[in-house]
Order: sequence, then C-alpha cells, then structure tokens
Amino acid sequence: MLTERQLFLQHLAQTSKTPMMLEIVKAEGMYLYDKSGKSFMDLIAGISVSNLGHRHPKVIKAVKKQLDEYSYLMVYGEYIQSPQVQLAKLLNDHLPKGLDTTYFVNSGSEAIEGAMKLAKRYTGRTEIIAFNNAYHGSTQGALSISGNEYFKKAYQPLLPEIILLQFNHQNDLKRISDKTACVVIEPIQGEGGVVIPGKQYLKDLRKKCDETGALLILDEIQTGFGRTGSLFAFEQYDIEPDILALAKGMGGGMPLGAFISSQKIMSSLKTNPELGHITTFGGHPVCCAAGLANLKELLEGDLIKKVKEEETLFKKLLVHPVIKEIRSKGLLIAIEFDDFETNKKVIDECIKNGIIVDWFLNASHCMRIAPPLIISEKEIESACNIIINSINKISN
Ligand code: PMP
Repeated sequence: MLTERQLFLQHLAQTSKTPMMLEIVKAEGMYLYDKSGKSFMDLIAGISVSNLGHRHPKVIKAVKKQLDEYSYLMVYGEYIQSPQVQLAKLLNDHLPKGLDTTYFVNSGSEAIEGAMKLAKRYTGRTEIIAFNNAYHGSTQGALSISGNEYFKKAYQPLLPEIILLQFNHQNDLKRISDKTACVVIEPIQGEGGVVIPGKQYLKDLRKKCDETGALLILDEIQTGFGRTGSLFAFEQYDIEPDILALAKGMGGGMPLGAFISSQKIMSSLKTNPELGHITTFGGHPVCCAAGLANLKELLEGDLIKKVKEEETLFKKLLVHPVIKEIRSKGLLIAIEFDDFETNKKVIDECIKNGIIVDWFLNASHCMRIAPPLIISEKEIESACNIIINSINKISN
C-alpha cells in the first residue's frame, strides 16, 4: 500500500519541487507533532495565521457551538447570520468611524480583489498604484499589483494601468493623481522581508490620497490581529485607510478575510450592477464564529500588550556576526543573511532541531519569524538558542 507521503506527491498539486513534507498529526498551542511523535515549535504561525496558537480552546468551543446550530446556509449577503453580524459589529467597534461596514470573504487575495473592485466602482477611475516588493496575493488582480516581476511574468497579460512606486520613497508619491482609483499598500511590507516605512511617509501618502481623491487601501492581511503590537498596524502610524483588507490571523485558524470601508463607499457595490461583488462561502458562519472568539480573546487577554517585550527579547538574543540585520515590528521579524543559500541552510538546520522557520516570498535571503502571540519567554530563549546554534553549525 502506498504511504500518505507517496499519495501526497502523486495526487496533490504541488507548488514547488521541494515541499516541506512534514507529516503532522496533531497541533496544540505553540507546537506541531509529526507521525513519529517529534514536536516542532511553530515559529511562523503557519504563516501569520495562528496568532492565538493552534487549537485555542475558546475558538474550538465557538466552532463546535456553531456546528451544533447551523453550518453553511446561503451565499453571502442574503440571510441574517448572527456570527457575521456579531463579528462585524465587534470589528467595527474597534476601528475608526470611517470603517463601519464589513464585507466578509474567504482569503487575503479575495479581500484585495474586493477592495480594488470597490475603489474602481466608487471613484470611477481605473489606475491602481502599488509598490515594489509588495505581496497582495496570488489571484490575477492581486498578482497584478505584486511588486515582484518573477511571480508575474509567466501570467501576463495581467491588469492594465498598474503603477508600481518605490516603497518608502517620498518623491514617488507625486505619481498619485486624480486618475488614481486607489493606492494599495502594506503598512509594513511582510513578504518583502519586514520593510518598515517612516511614520511621516504613511502620513504623506494619506495626505496625497486626500488631495487627489484616490482611496487608500491598507493591506493588513499579515500585520493585523495583534501581530505588530497593536490590533492593527495602522494604529501606530496615525493614519486611517479608506479600505482595510484583512485575512490570515482573522479566523483563529479558519479561512476568513474581509474588506472593510464606510457605508457610503461600500454601497457602490449595490447598484449598476446589482450584486457588484458576490461570494458563495464568504463569511461562512463557522469561520465567523471562530473569528469572533479569536477577536474577543485578543481584545480581552493581554497577548497584544506583551508583543513589544517579546520582540525586544528576540532581538536581544539573536546576535551573531553572520546575521546582517534584523528588522521587526512586533512579532513580525526578518533575520537577514548574505544570500538565500545561507538562509536555506540555517532554516533546514532549525527544522531538523525542532523549530519551524522559513523565508519570505520577496526576500529569500531573510528568515521569517512570526510566532503565535502566546509564545513564552522560555520558548523565545529556546528558539533563539536553536537559531544561533544552527547558524554556528552551518558556518563551521
Ligand atoms: N496580502 C498580504 C500582505 C499577505 O501576506 C498575503 C499572504 N501571504 C496575502 C495578501 C494573500 O493572502 P491569501 O494567501 O490568503 O490569499
């Protein structure tokens, strides 16, 4: 009989020649367990998703309760479903006034697609501005605004009228004009290898959007839900977006995303055409119930408050001459090496020694650390120890 490892290679579509191939049979909190019983500390939260750790009891309870009442009922937007309503209300209670209307989707890419469509409809404009090194998803619209030609070139033609600016370059902001429907930006570039903009830059971008009537779309798919030390990263930059895109850490491990805007902007999806953006599974009640439990726990517990301390501890312990630079915003951390080969060797050694790390899509020479926010001081010490020992081992 074929093993599941063999069946995986024969029957599942592969996205690379070198999948990690860990055969995980259980996950709990910070840890994954493979078939042989070996444990791995998950230092990437699979990726920036499990902010409360794996199988958080409150999320599990909410999922079970919802399954006992009803699961899927109907395409998005028709029936009044309590988990959707309650989650939208709680989200909107913790967002600025202009972000009072939520459209639930299934993934980050879909949140970006919906946000871009909404900006085109609302402004009546077609040009979209994004940034070099950005990552916004893998569907064709989201890929069109990716800042990495390597991933785009095989799929041309993509969307027309896309302009890419250099991230954090003040001078480039003058390209935003009254032709621009929207500017899509990650407040901190995640897949670009944790690139952090100046505070003034994001304020100036907001100002330029106001002057030209372009909508500002913030992609907080990776930075949202406590990852950077506040519920959303934009709170640390004194700006507010016109549309906020969310996913990943939103569903407590369940597939859930959203784009959020004002009632005024969002209502442009209602007419000409009616049903201007639709989805069958978006806002699945079980996912929204999980998302609601996840958000309540983040808001009521002290996990977000501890993020800065944890970031400081990581940075204190991750000192080694082979490390070129560490960039971080809360628990989104990039360790920069000279090249991909060095990074890959350290990553492989780390995984061998029981911690899961990886690289960034648009910065393959940087190691990603984005653990669940529940990580303890002891676990940070032990993880950093393994990383430093792994660097030593591959440098000898
Ligand atoms: N935006 C950002 C900033 C992301 O990091 C990602 C996923 N890495 C996406 C969008 C796409 O999300 P998804 O994979 O859920 O489509």
